[in-house]
Amino acid sequence: MQTIMEKIKARDPEQKEFHQAVAEVVETVRPALDAHPEYRHQKVLERLVEPERIIMFRVPWMDDRGEPQVNRGFRIEMNSAIGPYKGGLRFHPSVNLSILKFLAFEQTFKNALTSLPLGGGKGGADFDPKGKTDNEVMRFCQSFMTELYRHIGPDTDVPAGDIGVGAREIGFLFGMYKRLRNEFTGVLTGKSLNWGGSLIRPEATGYGCVHFAAEMLAVGGDALAGKTCLVSGSGNVAQYTVEKLIDRGARVVTLSDSSGHICDEAGIDAQKLAFVMRLKNVQRGRIQEYADAYPGTVFTPVDPTRSSNPLWEHAADCAFPCATENEINGEDARHLVAGGVRLVVEGANMPTTPEGIDHFLDAGVLYAPGKAANAGGVAVSGLEMAQNSMRLHWPREEVEGRLQMIMKNIHKNCLAAAERYGSPGNYLVGANVAGFIKVVDAMLDQGLV
Ligand code: GLU
Repeated sequence: MQTIMEKIKARDPEQKEFHQAVAEVVETVRPALDAHPEYRHQKVLERLVEPERIIMFRVPWMDDRGEPQVNRGFRIEMNSAIGPYKGGLRFHPSVNLSILKFLAFEQTFKNALTSLPLGGGKGGADFDPKGKTDNEVMRFCQSFMTELYRHIGPDTDVPAGDIGVGAREIGFLFGMYKRLRNEFTGVLTGKSLNWGGSLIRPEATGYGCVHFAAEMLAVGGDALAGKTCLVSGSGNVAQYTVEKLIDRGARVVTLSDSSGHICDEAGIDAQKLAFVMRLKNVQRGRIQEYADAYPGTVFTPVDPTRSSNPLWEHAADCAFPCATENEINGEDARHLVAGGVRLVVEGANMPTTPEGIDHFLDAGVLYAPGKAANAGGVAVSGLEMAQNSMRLHWPREEVEGRLQMIMKNIHKNCLAAAERYGSPGNYLVGANVAGFIKVVDAMLDQGLV
């Protein structure tokens, strides 16, 4: 296993995020490898870390001033052992092969945990939608799809949203795909409701996280009601995490974006959340405006000279990192534990660094990794695909019921796998081992392909 890490580092020395995601899985699945000698003989780890296919392409587009712009587009088709490649598209200046390979790798196990037939993939571009007009975003999406359409399809690869890709972008991407292929299929998920989208898809990741948190607390006879919660981010995942936390009677005091965070000790209520949703989804404004609208709220700007994030210094019972990767480092984790946090549930993908995770586990914090806790989003994407294939539209209660059941099962399966492989109560081991075994067994059934 040492050599596996050495090999991937030697091959792609600059892909730090990918190394981090692989190292976490490699370290936690050891007992499963020991119990199944065929996994080692068949070199399953070596096969898993190599994407089945990587597509990289030029995305030329014209900005509003008539100036040509060029971005880099990607799709990582990581693993199709249990279904068509599935995973979001991220539009953000930080996007590169390392970030997308880590996301596609995690997605493979996350999708397996949902128990739906979904392989793993991820894609995107180093395009920054911030400050762009709707027309610029449309031209970018159209150009992006002009290449991507060759590689995707409802039974091949089904992209969706991620950071920087929401309902607006999915609409532009879908329109171009339909025009190029002359077919109306469920090739993308996260579509709008009146043209093939599923009810509850926008809410699914955040709601699923909170269901998962409730399941974790219920094991010890506890509940979310009355708990003070820190939430980071203010995009789709954060918004619906807050909505469900409010529903369950918790008090949410923080939100953030790339410019800083707000702390509202009075608690974010439904009305304030509606303000945030308008601000972020329609006006595309900055979170600082929350503090202007609700006096008593403190806005703290990002300080690039600091090595830790002050958001995680507020006293609280629970933390829901819903912004982005590596947003909680070792120091942040120490602050959270010192501030009383007993539960950390990841809405984002890989938001905690390895040092941060070690600190949580050493301190006995209930910690749920993103690949289990945030799987509700892609799970409802899987339900959107099912509805599209049947040309049917399920009612809200049907989708919501299925989402709750899926999150309950993921929770149960993580605990069972953790127990079985010698780390009772450890959700990190449970999620990695359960996802790993499902994917690997499917790969072995299908021969050396
Ligand atoms: N980007 C989301 C994730 O990280 C959703 C992917 C999807 O719905 O395909 O799981």
